[in-house]
Amino acid sequence: MASVPPSKPCVGISACLLGERVRYDGDHQYQADLIGELKRHFQLQSFCPEMAAGMGVPRPAIHLVEQAGLVRCVQVDQPERDMTDALRHSFEQRFSIFQALDGFVLKARSPSCGLAGTKLTGKLGQYRNGRGLFAAWLQACFPTLPLIDENALQSPLRLADFIRRVESHASGSK
Ligand code: SF4
Repeated sequence: MASVPPSKPCVGISACLLGERVRYDGDHQYQADLIGELKRHFQLQSFCPEMAAGMGVPRPAIHLVEQAGLVRCVQVDQPERDMTDALRHSFEQRFSIFQALDGFVLKARSPSCGLAGTKLTGKLGQYRNGRGLFAAWLQACFPTLPLIDENALQSPLRLADFIRRVESHASGSK
């Protein structure tokens, strides 16, 4: 009898990196070499936080601002339109889906997906490094879940380390 190959760990990925046209401007951020390498090791499950929150394509651009000491996600051209609660609600509705993952590859610098380097505007208009709303929520809810962005994966050492961490997470959860 032929042996059944072991299943690959399941890793979430920002949908635009997989080539889905879900960016606010209807474009994607597909990177063929990176996706090919990731598929050698993982099953990839795409997710776009902004589409999941019903924001549609195309949609107004959003950015992070600090208000009363809290980070909020608002429309760039209409700051009174605050998407923070709608986004967080859509993450929480999918909690069990993320709980079943062994890692997540995030789009760098996005106000939703950015792990680091997302522009956060302070109350005096100054910029500093922030973290996207979805990336921050994943880190808070699943502190042991391996996370990385596509920029870090350009480093062979960081890629190898991410693969090791995902495999370790997968073996620990079986
Ligand atoms: S919210 Fe995330 S997945 Fe969706 S387009 Fe922006 S970076 Fe890509």
